[in-house]
Amino acid sequence: MPRKKNNHLKYIFVVGGVMSGVGKGVAASSIGKILQARGLRVTALKIDPYVNVDAGTMNPTEHGETFVLDDGTECDQDMGNYERFLDRDLSRANYMTTGSIYLDVIRRERNLEFGGKCVSVVPYIPMEVILRIDRAAAKADAEVALVEIGGTVGEYENILFLEAIRMLRLRHPGDVLIALVSYIPSLGAGGNELKTKPTQHAVRNLNSVGLQPDIIFGRAPMRLDEKRKEKLSLMCGVAKEDVISSPNADSIYDVPLNFEKEALSDRLLKKLNLRPRGRDLDAWRRLCRTIRVAKKEARIGVIGKYFDTGEFMLADSYISVLEAIKHGAAAARRKPVIEWLGSGEFEKDPRSLAALSQYDGIVVPGGFGHRGVEGKIAAIRYCREHKIPYLGLCYGMQLAVIEFARNVLKLKGANTTEIDQTAAHPVIDIMPEQKKLMEEKKYGGTMRLGAYPAELFPKTIAAAAYGTLKISERHRHRYEVNPDYIGRFEKAGVVFSGKSPDGRLMEIMELAKSVHPFFMGTQFHPELKSRPLHPHPLFREFMKAAAKGKK
Ligand code: GLN
Repeated sequence: MPRKKNNHLKYIFVVGGVMSGVGKGVAASSIGKILQARGLRVTALKIDPYVNVDAGTMNPTEHGETFVLDDGTECDQDMGNYERFLDRDLSRANYMTTGSIYLDVIRRERNLEFGGKCVSVVPYIPMEVILRIDRAAAKADAEVALVEIGGTVGEYENILFLEAIRMLRLRHPGDVLIALVSYIPSLGAGGNELKTKPTQHAVRNLNSVGLQPDIIFGRAPMRLDEKRKEKLSLMCGVAKEDVISSPNADSIYDVPLNFEKEALSDRLLKKLNLRPRGRDLDAWRRLCRTIRVAKKEARIGVIGKYFDTGEFMLADSYISVLEAIKHGAAAARRKPVIEWLGSGEFEKDPRSLAALSQYDGIVVPGGFGHRGVEGKIAAIRYCREHKIPYLGLCYGMQLAVIEFARNVLKLKGANTTEIDQTAAHPVIDIMPEQKKLMEEKKYGGTMRLGAYPAELFPKTIAAAAYGTLKISERHRHRYEVNPDYIGRFEKAGVVFSGKSPDGRLMEIMELAKSVHPFFMGTQFHPELKSRPLHPHPLFREFMKAAAKGKK
């Protein structure tokens, strides 16, 4: 049956102008949120312009966190933003890179699937992009596909994605909307003179590939004044009402509300000829209010290996951990004050560990390799002995197990074989199926990745937090607690409150409430599943324990 007119899938492309890092992902997520609040079924996709097939092989210290989806896809951190804002689980269909697109097209060419044709870059690569967007939308039963294009307009790398938009617009005029998120620098003595020229150039760049933006988001420290809106409207060829202020926000969760102050959803619906089905941002508004009014602080220290050397952007490398702490803090009615602590100092001077007592809670997030590990282990010991709430995520759990082995079980030389292959007590060891992959040097996408079920034990802190005994959590690791040592740990008071259904893998370790206010480690990454409207139960309990310390 032919689809009725105006019943087509609608596409919103979000592209960046002037420079990267201006919050394109948050803008895209916020657009999704406000459309969802108007009753529309929205899905979100990210297209990254690099040749890596996925984000798993990239250094998070340079490119930000590697986010992991239920199906094990290792992807860009923006996918985490989409999941958090839309409160939906996304899949492999929602993420693509130049590398993954070419890989697929080349594979099909090798299989003679192009019927003898010359497979030229245009139109075949943009066609593959369009195909994938449509597939993701169909899978999610979405009415609107929100597609964020990585990079900035005017650069060479993302040109084929822009070409896909041009082709799509030709095919479905009226169903494609282009939103340019552009940086508006402020100059002048008071820093309040907003300059529109770079954005004008960005629009010219878009024009040169046959595209005209429908909406311009002006990312600036403050709201755009009327003059600036008029100027952008005139020089860039968009209606004044389609120039939307995107000022810096105290909380990223305020951004959808800021957009609605400018009636953005009405504009989007009108342009795409969509009819709304309600208006419901109430729960979101309440959350933002809770975040805003929380005055009592909870100080959380996050310990990592390079944190003291200023080698990288911390907030982006651990964005899901950061957001999950914020979600938990909102649930505990606290204002989170998060500090990054380098473990190097703890290694050099054990006296520096005393500084940990000024924190209400300590997190050791995931990690790889040997650097800074001894400092982290010393810090975990301090938390255990001084009863500071502790949450260890993946590596943070493994190191807590090593700490306990060395200092309570007195197993000298206890370690992970990731660091010491000949450890006297390999309490953390490589999973057998991982060993083979390592020997064959198969690194990309080969860790234990994505969602796995686990079973919880009744009457544990974990079981009480989740309120259920069957859970599913996301993983990204190669090592695990060595099954040969479980008995010794349990006898000494470690509670493995979560295990894989076959009982072989230890998924959660905790210490009883009678000995410590909150000491927990998870082999999985709970931060990947925390959502602002549904804080992760373990982060919530951790933050509640941290809040208790504050009078
Ligand atoms: N390096 C550890 C492993 O591979 C932990 C990984 C992580 O923290 N994500 O098992």
